[in-house]
Amino acid sequence: MANAGAEPKLPRKTPAQCERARRILAALKLRYPDAHCELDWTKPHELLMATILSAQCTDVSVNKATPGLFKAFPTPADYARATPEQIEPYIRTIGLFRSKAKALHETGRMLTERFGGEVPRKMGELLLLRGVARKTANVVLGNCFGINVGVVVDTHVGRLAERFALSRAKTPAAIEADLMALFPREDWCLLSHLLIFHGRRACKARGGDCANDAICREFCSEARGAKTVAEAPAPKRASAAKKSTRKVDGKVARKRGTSR
Ligand code: SF4
Repeated sequence: MANAGAEPKLPRKTPAQCERARRILAALKLRYPDAHCELDWTKPHELLMATILSAQCTDVSVNKATPGLFKAFPTPADYARATPEQIEPYIRTIGLFRSKAKALHETGRMLTERFGGEVPRKMGELLLLRGVARKTANVVLGNCFGINVGVVVDTHVGRLAERFALSRAKTPAAIEADLMALFPREDWCLLSHLLIFHGRRACKARGGDCANDAICREFCSEARGAKTVAEAPAPKRASAAKKSTRKVDGKVARKRGTSR
């Protein structure tokens, strides 16, 4: 059986592709110098639990629930001792809270019984935990321990990877392999934060400021053809302008609707 924790085989990239990736990374670093994980945590097992909770819901909603959760269950052993039903009330505001309560309980139990109450630092070991796939393992390894074994691919990273022409792949695993091949290993953790920051602040699922964003204009095919504020028609031609804008926005909105 294949080793689930093994590093994926990376596709070959040309020097030109790597140079373009380097320029994207530099531009994002300049724009978001404080890019960081937006889940609140102070101990590795807290980030692990918070990341499990964040599946299919926002970091904001997780951050609202975790102060009470972390106070009630300060160690992995506390999750192990509690039943899922006892964990549920603390995460009831989060989607899929019943299955997530089971995952927290199981994760606490495995951390206690197999790893001495510590969060393991190997991809293969993290993947043994309930509710943990490569994305969660990458979050924990990169943010808690500074270990870069992969790139976190969430909905923002996947969308931006496609729009910045960094990957044509359709699965998170293949997108991750493309990004690992294009960017230096030491930047993998930060890269995901930068793309997530851009995804949340500029390239929002319901419409970005495509034409007026310098990074977008240089690197995203969606921005080409969109008009900047300065290029927009004068107010006296309001009806024509409205029609034109609708057309541009309609095109963007339709494409955006396919990605999240
Ligand atoms: S140009 Fe538009 S679609 Fe492309 S990354 Fe920027 S906001 Fe997103």
